[in-house]
Amino acid sequence: MVVLGKQGSGKGTQCVKLSQRFAIPHISTGDMLRAEVKAKTALGLQAQLAMEKGELISDSLIIKMVEKRIELDDARTRGFILDGFPRTLSQAKSLDEMLSPQEIDMVINLEVPTSVVLKRIASRRVCVDCQAVYSLAKPPRFNWTCDLCGGEVLQREDDTEEAILRRLVLYEEETAPLIEYYQERNKLHRVSGLGSEEAVALRLDKLIRSYLKRREAKQTRD
Ligand code: ADP
Repeated sequence: MVVLGKQGSGKGTQCVKLSQRFAIPHISTGDMLRAEVKAKTALGLQAQLAMEKGELISDSLIIKMVEKRIELDDARTRGFILDGFPRTLSQAKSLDEMLSPQEIDMVINLEVPTSVVLKRIASRRVCVDCQAVYSLAKPPRFNWTCDLCGGEVLQREDDTEEAILRRLVLYEEETAPLIEYYQERNKLHRVSGLGSEEAVALRLDKLIRSYLKRREAKQTRD
């Protein structure tokens, strides 16, 4: 499954919930890249500057990283939820090639107006160790220390106003065309990302369960 949605749409938060509920690995390219930057690997050093500025890193680097990740055992056996990939048409086409003859089951577009995401990102805080997402309105229980792993909870380095605006422009230019790409292939499901985390999670849960039911019915018919 692929989850699309602009920065601050709640994509990461919902993907973590889905991953736990359906026991499917959550593959977030942003989280993977931040881990590479933190570990100062060759890939991390190559990606760091672009990330800080809110630019995309090159298709070839990111495609190689995802290809390696989806070949691991957990993804082979359980499938995966992709968050942050694909982000360009060329990445979407590469993903199709990687998976062929299999296909992505469903693509979810989490829809939230830009005025709302700007407010959400300004208040977003993230654990530097496990990447759990908090906000000024929903802080960790104790002194900006992550409830899950004890890591420090801070504002992301690329959540500056300048980098956010750049990422939103790139989203419209590079990622919005993917909506049409997946619509033409009958994969696209639109879900409103407005309301509480729980309300959005319920909407997604309903959609996925009804998809699975339909798929099961089709498989028994065939
Ligand atoms: P956001 O959705 O808030 O922009 P992410 O955590 O998904 O944040 O990604 C952070 C940064 O990592 C992006 O701004 C970009 O520099 C890089 N990145 C992540 N995924 C991709 C991708 N598929 N292609 C190119 N760059 C990516």
